[in-house]
Amino acid sequence: MSLSPERPSRAEAEDAVRTLIRWACDDPTREGLLDTPARVARAYEELFAGYQVDPVALLERTFDEVEGYDEIVLLKNIRLESYCEHHMVPIIGHCHVAYLPARRVVGISKLARVVEAYGKRLQIQEKLTAQIANTIDQVLQPRGVAVIIESAHQCMTTRGVHQTGVTMVTSRMLGAFRDNFDTRRELLSLIQSPS
Ligand SMILES: [Zn+2]
Repeated sequence: MSLSPERPSRAEAEDAVRTLIRWACDDPTREGLLDTPARVARAYEELFAGYQVDPVALLERTFDEVEGYDEIVLLKNIRLESYCEHHMVPIIGHCHVAYLPARRVVGISKLARVVEAYGKRLQIQEKLTAQIANTIDQVLQPRGVAVIIESAHQCMTTRGVHQTGVTMVTSRMLGAFRDNFDTRRELLSLIQSPS
């Protein structure tokens, strides 16, 4: 499920890395850098593996024998690794995902896999937050979905304004988490309680 119809060859990708090394004013033919273009190309396959994953398919297998369970399901502190689409440097943080099931539930590891599938792409945090919430909402059709992301952006910490210790927080609340004050308050107290 590649978004790019014309993916360049591995050799073209490695040449591009050589160009960037020269742009940084180093010599791609010196010994220490000889294998770097190949390593970077392989690393990109891993860092951007999300483009090969269909998040909708991850959520399609659900379980409906839940004994009427209809309270909040919350997965806290999912590790988030993403990449700023403006600077191609890491966004590192964590994500809380919650939903209010309507009859059926999904394996909790699948929620973490959805975060990973959208995280391992070029992103801005606002879009990433919305994509995770919207996909869960569309596939599971629960009574509510909440996604909260807290992260540090290396484009702010290691370049530009050099602000360390700054956390960016985004959230998308749908359904009961958006409309019902008590439900939202219950969610926030579950997130804040020590786990
Ligand atoms: Zn950036």
